[in-house]
Amino acid sequence: QAKQHGSNNFRFFSKGMNRMAWERIEIETGLRRALDLQQLALHYQPQVDLKTGHIIGMEALLRWESPELGRVSPMRFIPLAEETGLILPIGNWVLESACRQAKAWHRAGFPSLRMAVNISARQFKQAGFIDRLDAIIQRSGINPELLEMELTESLIMEKSDETLMTLVDIKSRGIKLAIDDFGTGYSMLSYLKHFPIDRIKVDRSFVRDIPENTDDAAITEAIIAMAHSLKIEVIAEGIETREQLAFLKDRACEEGQGYYFGRPVPVETAAEILAQQYPRGGSSLFD
Ligand code: C2E
Ligand code: MG
Ligand code: MG
Ligand code: MG
Repeated sequence: QAKQHGSNNFRFFSKGMNRMAWERIEIETGLRRALDLQQLALHYQPQVDLKTGHIIGMEALLRWESPELGRVSPMRFIPLAEETGLILPIGNWVLESACRQAKAWHRAGFPSLRMAVNISARQFKQAGFIDRLDAIIQRSGINPELLEMELTESLIMEKSDETLMTLVDIKSRGIKLAIDDFGTGYSMLSYLKHFPIDRIKVDRSFVRDIPENTDDAAITEAIIAMAHSLKIEVIAEGIETREQLAFLKDRACEEGQGYYFGRPVPVETAAEILAQQYPRGGSSLFD
């Protein structure tokens, strides 16, 4: 069959591979124009104080709505954006938009709301990242103490001097540092003491099956206890049930995030939620 098409017909893809390769090209092509065509938006998911049930922060999560491809999950397009370098303009846009939104919320009556932003390793390592960051802080007028960067465990585990220097630069501006998806990267928690880390985010995969899964329960408990002994705060990702919440509260996990409290929502909805559940005057998300 392949022979009929001539000798330079490369049919090395299986059917499935072929489809995936095309899908990749479609996503990449679309993503190149997504920023200019204003197809990208940020959604916001509440981060909750587990003692009081009040919202103390929001995580900005990128959304891409393509007319051709529909809504594409960040799990699909972020890795591609990282490979192609598109994460640099996109990531800068995310950081600036999130800082501007945070400042708008601070002005609107939620003065100590924290804004958490995901920063990819490639973005973090780009030349001039700190200068860009300073410009964004300037332009947006955000109080840097209220900005939190979510970094990956693998970035920290590279143990490079450059990374450490950039972390120190970021910290010196008062910005908070969190390690996202903690526990998935096989890193030693004790290693974190060499870095100016404020918070770890216990990965959703551990939270999912607690309290029933006794292994996951033991791991989560150990992560919380060790973080606390290193003076690192803990936020649990992916809280969906009362039982998970109770388990984490009992172990003094400071904060939580997950569908139990609220899904990521567009900015208008997030503003309504804040009006209801922000500490001052607002009601608690418990009961
Ligand atoms: P992440 O930073 O760990 O974000 C948490 C993900 O878990 C989000 O998925 C969120 O919608 C989802 N989630 C939150 N609570 C629950 C829950 O209770 N149950 C379940 N099943 N899921 C929950 P999302 O928005 O699809 O983002 C996926 C990943 O894409 C993020 O994981 C992050 O690594 C990356 N990402 C998203 N936005 C950005 C961005 O602006 N920049 C970069 N570099 N990466 C981003
Ligand atoms: Mg995150
Ligand atoms: Mg995470
Ligand atoms: Mg995760």
